[in-house]
Amino acid sequence: MKKVIPISALDALHSKTSPAIVPGVLHEPTGVLNDSRGRSLHDLRISVTDRCNFRCPYCMPKEIFTSDYNYLGQKELLSFEEITRLSRIFIAHGVKKIRLTGGEPLLRKGIEQLVAMLSPLQTLDHQPIDVTLTTNGSLLKKKAQGLKDAGLKRITISLDGIHDETFRKMNDVDFALKDVLESIDVAQKLDFESVKINMVVKKGVNDQEILPMIKHFKNTGVIVRFIEYMDVGNTNGWKMDEVIPSRQIIDRIQEHYPLTPIDPDYAGEVAQRWKMLDGGGEIGVISSVTQTFCHTCTRARISMEGKLFLCLFASKGYDLKALLRSEANDLTISNAIAQIWQARDDRYSEQRTQIQQGVIHHPKVEMSYIGG
Ligand code: SAM
Ligand code: SF4
Ligand code: SF4
Repeated sequence: MKKVIPISALDALHSKTSPAIVPGVLHEPTGVLNDSRGRSLHDLRISVTDRCNFRCPYCMPKEIFTSDYNYLGQKELLSFEEITRLSRIFIAHGVKKIRLTGGEPLLRKGIEQLVAMLSPLQTLDHQPIDVTLTTNGSLLKKKAQGLKDAGLKRITISLDGIHDETFRKMNDVDFALKDVLESIDVAQKLDFESVKINMVVKKGVNDQEILPMIKHFKNTGVIVRFIEYMDVGNTNGWKMDEVIPSRQIIDRIQEHYPLTPIDPDYAGEVAQRWKMLDGGGEIGVISSVTQTFCHTCTRARISMEGKLFLCLFASKGYDLKALLRSEANDLTISNAIAQIWQARDDRYSEQRTQIQQGVIHHPKVEMSYIGG
């Protein structure tokens, strides 16, 4: 049955920052939603807070993110019920994986409860939805058991060095390395299906940590992934010459730990996987700058205040909170999301050079807002 979308529901999407939506007809979701470049919706990243207790200079430099910074109030955040409702709607469009992020997601009060609400959800083929979380690890020691009990199966912990001095410089709030290492230990003992470490590599700042990180986590089952430093947001003063291309990272590792490439876990996986030939374990590289993967990008992002972003570097978000808090029913919201995704043409990383040179004008939102 086809119905015309009520104009009032579409109007709710037209926040100041949202591009216009072309009215269409209502359809039941089919479980497959392709964008204008044929990329299907598969992953949903939900940012649950814009706050963080770290000030990693590449993400939330402390000169900008001061205590006077205009953070959102509690009422502006999506509630757990709203997040769960949206997640169901996204799953009906084919989402199989939900990642909670931020800001620092463990700062969101009751995060375990949200995990408990999301983890029973099932994909359309009746598989459990893959709920995961990215954290800076600072509060994980206390929270890991509760998250595991709530149904969290996998976890990613960010760690930008394995020497205390480097780590403190990278978090820029003088947070001690040993606390995060203890968190990683706790997570391992709890038998999460996977514990991964993300390390952002910035040339001349923490690249001396690459080999010690491998040495530390070798034979532990923990997968370390090296991320190229990116030009997210507008405040980190990114320069291309501070990026170490993943290819060079792999070459550097190979000199000490011979590697062989392995297949991705699933189509559209962002990390290129490698395993150590001596059986020491797996590592990964995420080459967002030097080997772009926009053509396989299947990720949608929802900010803590309910805006839908189609790219990590998006300029604009679509105000789903206004729809959630209107009279709109699930089908109307579902159709709005479908229209937005179908029109998606985002591919920032492929256009980075032209954008950096000013050939294409492209303002961006901050990563701590949109979620990494
Ligand atoms: N606070 C949590 C954390 O740090 O894991 C979750 C949010 S954080 C924005 C998500 C991921 O984005 C982290 O692994 C972080 O290292 C990464 N990230 C942030 N800024 C980045 C940048 N400029 N380039 C590359 N990765 C970045
Ligand atoms: Fe906080 Fe994560 Fe950004 Fe670091 S990367 S400032 S821990 S949100
Ligand atoms: Fe996806 Fe945007 Fe990153 Fe390209 S730049 S991979 S479209 S999030």
